[in-house]
Amino acid sequence: MADEPRRQSLARGLRNVDERVTKAAESAGRDPALITTVVVTKTWPATDLRLLHELGVRDFGENRCHEGAGKAAELAGLDLTWHFIGQIQSNKATKVARYADVVHSVDSVRVAHRLSSGAQQRAGVVNCFIQVNLDPEGTRERRGGLSSDAIDEVADTIETATGLRLVGVMGVAPLGADPAPSYRRLADVSRRLVERHPGARAVSAGMSADVEEAIFAGATHVRVGSAVLGERPPLR
Ligand SMILES: *Cc1c(COP(=O)(O)O)cnc(C)c1O
Repeated sequence: MADEPRRQSLARGLRNVDERVTKAAESAGRDPALITTVVVTKTWPATDLRLLHELGVRDFGENRCHEGAGKAAELAGLDLTWHFIGQIQSNKATKVARYADVVHSVDSVRVAHRLSSGAQQRAGVVNCFIQVNLDPEGTRERRGGLSSDAIDEVADTIETATGLRLVGVMGVAPLGADPAPSYRRLADVSRRLVERHPGARAVSAGMSADVEEAIFAGATHVRVGSAVLGERPPLR
């Protein structure tokens, strides 16, 4: 095969992440089969995605509209689920919904409406996570997402919009701090959402560095990039 060393390195990365997920789930008394690992392929070429597909990966995460659309077009023949995990500029949301099956970063009514338009254009359904801001009060660094009091309005918008399905909440832990308290907060927000929207039980949390903490706090979806693919090439 063209790229045997790369295939082996990806296979090793996947095995390692699978083992971490299984171990964390088991020690939390949860079923590992109910946790979805989204492999985050941003900045990596479509050749890597093909290798990952051959190794059994079906859930791929991208964070830029244009890059994700390009790979989705290039790999259109494969049975893949595309997850959009990046911050969405509302003028790009329609485009994102034309290829993404799942959007983890819905953070406004306006984005929800535009995703609905895009979903209708392709006569499909976009599964939506509402992104919750997990930064401590008063910090300047913002990793995106809504404050918890703004969630209900966006949730109701998604529930009533054509072509959208509300599946749960997503969070990105603040840099340089223990992620566990943030993920527990996200779990609290999730419980409150589920009271009003019983179908929206999914929780997207956890990246390469903190898969375990996220699973202990109840994550159903982890988003893992560098632990599978290696350190990302610098952004262009
Ligand atoms: C890049 C990214 C990830 C994956 O990060 P790694 O540390 O490489 O696992 C997960 N979630 C979001 C929102 C990202 O942008």
